[in-house]
This record gives sequence, C-alpha cells and structure tokens, in this order.
Amino acid sequence: MSEKPKVAFFDFACCEGCQLQIANLEEDIIGLLNLVNVVEFREVATGKAPEYDIAFIEGSITRKSDEERLKDIRNRSKLLVAYGQCAVTGGINLLKNNFGDLDMVKRKVYGDDSSMPHLDTAVTKSVGEVVKADLAIPGCPVNREEFLRIVKELCLGKIPRIPDYPVCVECKLKENICLFDEGTICLGPIARAGCGAICPSNGVPCDACRGAVPNPNKKAMHEVLKKYNYTVERIIREMNLFGVNPEVSE
Ligand code: SF4
Ligand code: SF4
Ligand code: SF4
Repeated sequence: MSEKPKVAFFDFACCEGCQLQIANLEEDIIGLLNLVNVVEFREVATGKAPEYDIAFIEGSITRKSDEERLKDIRNRSKLLVAYGQCAVTGGINLLKNNFGDLDMVKRKVYGDDSSMPHLDTAVTKSVGEVVKADLAIPGCPVNREEFLRIVKELCLGKIPRIPDYPVCVECKLKENICLFDEGTICLGPIARAGCGAICPSNGVPCDACRGAVPNPNKKAMHEVLKKYNYTVERIIREMNLFGVNPEVSE
C-alpha cells in the first residue's frame, strides 16, 4: 500500500471556525485519518513536519509577517488549498478594507492596546493574492461533507468540483417558500450553492457566505428586485458582509 499523503492545517486571521468543522468531524474523523496522515494541526495536535503533500490554509492575510509565513508554507507544500471564505476571498475580514485608515480601525477595536506589536495590521488579502492556491473551498464555515469529499478526490488524484450554480437551485429542490415572498431580501439568486441552502431552509436569508456564482444572472436578479420593490443599491449593501462583489449594476 502506498504511503498516505502528509496533510497539514494552518490558520491566519480568522475565527478558527473552519478548523473546528474539521476537528469536530466526530465518527467521520476515522475516515479522514484512514486517507491521510495529519502531520500538523495546531488546534488538535502538537506535531510539526518539514514538508507536506497538502497544506490547508484557513484565514486571511492581514500582516506583512503573515505573507512571509504563508510563502514559506507554500515552498514546503506540493498542493496548497485555501479553505473557508477568509482564506478564499478575505471573507468577513475584508470589511476592514472599506474604512481606508487602518490605524483608525485598530484604535477603534483595540483602544489603548492598539500599539501592541502582535496587533500589526495591513490591508486584508486572500491566500491566492499572496501565493498560488491550487484549490479554494468556499464557505463560512466550510461544509464538512464537502470538505471530506474534496479530500477523498484529492487523494484519488481527481480535480474536485465546486458547485457553480446559485443557492436558489438547492432551495427550490427543497421546496422552500421563497423568503422574498415573506418580505425578506435574500442573496440566493447570486450566491454559490453547495451548502444545501441551509439558511433559507431554516428561515434565514442567504448572505452569500460561499461567495457569488461566476457570471450571475443579472437580468433575473433585477427582475426579482423590481418585483419585490428593492433597489440594486440595497442588494449591494447586503453583499458587503462577505465582500461578494459580482457586477450587478444595471
Ligand atoms: S471562513 Fe468563517 S468560519 Fe471560517 S475561519 Fe473565517 S470567519 Fe471563521
Ligand atoms: S429563499 Fe433565497 S435562496 Fe430560496 S429561492 Fe428565495 S431567493 Fe432563492
Ligand atoms: S445559504 Fe447562503 S449564507 Fe447560508 S450557508 Fe449557504 S451560501 Fe452560506
């Protein structure tokens, strides 16, 4: 039997919620450990290794020192995968970039402690803006089932497929009542599917935490907005949370 791929997990600026998804795989963790040899995973183990077959990177890059650390990991990894929206696009950490003056943002958040060296800050970047990412697994947090499927496919040498259709497709298949009909704005028409439309299925509007579909259907989106008396500006405001930025203007 050939040796199992050496896998490592690393975190940058994030809430570590995506790592927790993996650490909390419960009975499925055995399936994962049968496939791969986890050689580094700070949240669950103390081991270290000099090189990796696959490095999974969580979090966005928000300091100069992060860039150097990420480049070093890249140099020691055969495959590098950005997982979770913080890593894939910058995610929720992108909100900081909207304010321009990052020192002001830091003072607002940390007050008198803002000059401490570990609170150094820079414009938020995705992993792919600093090094080559071979694959991006979207979501805030990542979906455990999707993560496991992707690891299996990578181990088999396949190129994993990430859904490129909107959340509305999954929502309709579940025969949910559309939240627009209940007076709520929802980003489902432009949001990337793959989560099983978990939010609208539980009465919560989609915030597009998996980013936008490539080439969103602008015309259909405008028709929905018009039908329910919402403006394009309103939906652009909603997209701000996860820095989703497809071209939706008329
Ligand atoms: S993508 Fe979401 S859950 Fe994952 S680390 Fe970032 S903020 Fe946390
Ligand atoms: S609730 Fe949201 S995701 Fe579901 S059909 Fe309506 S717009 Fe689409
Ligand atoms: S429904 Fe939307 S916000 Fe909820 S998990 Fe899916 S993509 Fe993310």
